[in-house]
Amino acid sequence: MDPITAITRGGSSWTPEFAISIDDKKCIGCGRCYKVCTRDVLELIDRSEDEIMEDDDDDSESISSKMSLANAMDCTGCGACGRVCPKGCFTHSPMALGA
Ligand code: SF4
Ligand code: SF4
Repeated sequence: MDPITAITRGGSSWTPEFAISIDDKKCIGCGRCYKVCTRDVLELIDRSEDEIMEDDDDDSESISSKMSLANAMDCTGCGACGRVCPKGCFTHSPMALGA
């Protein structure tokens, strides 16, 4: 199936790249992506106790939350979340309708 395409105000065609995953091992829970998403796709969730203990094993600062794709089907593929993420957590991809 062909990927979804869109059109700018000026009539140029472009291919949205949807957020398909977040690398939660890299995520520091900073919330930058949440602030720029206009579609309420993202939600900050608590890490499990095991995940927090893994962080402690690394001697790194304990991080108790991580970002999730709570409403992935509402994503418009704007790419803003990936641009502001300081840790490169996001993977984006063109998608077919309903995929
Ligand atoms: S690509 Fe755009 S709409 Fe989709 S999650 Fe990121 S900021 Fe939100
Ligand atoms: S911007 Fe990146 S590091 Fe910050 S909460 Fe979002 S996914 Fe995590």
